[in-house]
Amino acid sequence: MTEHTLTVAGVAVDTRHWIGGRRVASAGTFTDVSPIDGKAIGAISRGTPAEAAEAVAAAKAAFPGWAATPRAERARILHAVADGVEKRLEELAIVETTDNGALLRSHRRGVMPRVAHNFRFFADWLLTLDHEDFDTYPSGGSAAGRGHTNHVSWDPAGPCVLITPWNAPLMMASWKVAPALAAGNTVVLKPAEWTPLTASLLADITAEAGLPAGVLNIVQGYGSEIGDALTSHPDVRRISFTGSVPTARHIAASSAPNLTPTSFELGGKSPLLVFADADLDLAVDLAVEQYDNAGQVCLAATRILVEEPIAEEFTRRFTEKAAGLTQGDPRDEATDVGPNIHPRQLEKIDGFVRRAVAAGARTVIGGHPGDGQYYAPTLLTDVAQDSEIVQEEVFGPVLTLQTFRDEDEAVRLANDTRFGLAATLATGDHERADRVTAQLVAGTVWVNCFFVRDLQAPFGGSRESGVGREGGTWSFDFYCDLKNTVTAPKGWKHHG
Ligand code: NAD
Repeated sequence: MTEHTLTVAGVAVDTRHWIGGRRVASAGTFTDVSPIDGKAIGAISRGTPAEAAEAVAAAKAAFPGWAATPRAERARILHAVADGVEKRLEELAIVETTDNGALLRSHRRGVMPRVAHNFRFFADWLLTLDHEDFDTYPSGGSAAGRGHTNHVSWDPAGPCVLITPWNAPLMMASWKVAPALAAGNTVVLKPAEWTPLTASLLADITAEAGLPAGVLNIVQGYGSEIGDALTSHPDVRRISFTGSVPTARHIAASSAPNLTPTSFELGGKSPLLVFADADLDLAVDLAVEQYDNAGQVCLAATRILVEEPIAEEFTRRFTEKAAGLTQGDPRDEATDVGPNIHPRQLEKIDGFVRRAVAAGARTVIGGHPGDGQYYAPTLLTDVAQDSEIVQEEVFGPVLTLQTFRDEDEAVRLANDTRFGLAATLATGDHERADRVTAQLVAGTVWVNCFFVRDLQAPFGGSRESGVGREGGTWSFDFYCDLKNTVTAPKGWKHHG
């Protein structure tokens, strides 16, 4: 224990950066606050541009050694990281819940096992990365190139900057860190300032797993203060960012002079389309599920679109089911909806709802804050398609309900925002499902299900929901420099 150690729910957490395999303290600090009770958790190192540059330098220095480490050895170390996550699962779960207010039961049973899985999956996938060698395609009868072999390799790209949001801190960090490291890159991770804690625990876990110094570096602090030092750094070869659209625009501009490749996973305003032929109980379950994590989920289907003939019955059943949700302390196993992350976020949510109501929306349920940092699960109807509440991401437990007359109108409403992250469909008709999904603009479409995410699948958003795709081989395509080697059949001294 040092003056830089906090005890969070009985777990020791270092408050400093992790640079080049050692802890580095900033002169300044910022206060990390728990959304559960609004109380201060402690003081965290408030990174400076110089410290951000130091982290990039450490990543650069460690890159040649890690890039040259055989794939099997990289995979072994990533599995050891996953072992460490599993060993400390309970600690990670309670620290994350204290820091971001999401349900302890989800962290225990869903999120933290998934963090371990992220490391295992990308370690294993790395070992399958292979493209069969191929002969040069015969072109125009020319003899040139005939008999030549093409060999594709996934070369490590260099130091990567990974920037994550607060709504799923370790989950998002591991989703980026695991493939970046597996690919042979080194990393500077910048966690969100509202949720700095589990990233610090990840530093300890990777060190125990034998990850060499400088391969993973973590800088704490405000994005507005240290972001540019990371994203405009000429030695950074990849930037993967999950967060809001305005920040993505800023990063796109700051990384442009170096032409640093970026991957952006951004906001959403995803629809849930409920057709009259749907299993109504299933559709209602899917709709109520959108209050998970107090609505702070980028993929949430916040716009419920229901076919007219069943709208009344759907609303009745939805209201009944939502009334059964328990809101309260996220550490309590019985809680379904916890707090929102920050007083500022709560104000933002309430502002959206008030303006919607002033513009003519009708509140079916909720529509107001609760005690502390809690917002009542809310459903608004009588909302216009071009209104703010339908077009803008709220990032809270606020859903809208609109009706449609036919498939064409359903698709038109579903696609009519600037976003294109996900779409969910409830229908009993396979052909309809095929017809509608073919017309939806979305990175992921779920049919009669929600949030089923296989790590092999491409993940990302269309339009303003993102740039690029990660997941499975797509992650390695992003985190690697793909190289094609063309070898001639001639010129060899030894024939084997
Ligand atoms: P945000 O953009 O405010 O912050 C995200 C991260 O960017 C934080 O770590 C922050 O410190 C950093 N940052 C801020 N300014 C920066 C700058 N100038 N340069 C570099 N980094 C900077 O977003 P947020 O409020 O933390 O997260 C919520 C948003 O994230 C929502 O829009 C949500 O939809 C989105 N999100 C998307 C996904 C996805 O996979 N598509 C997943 C989770 C969250």
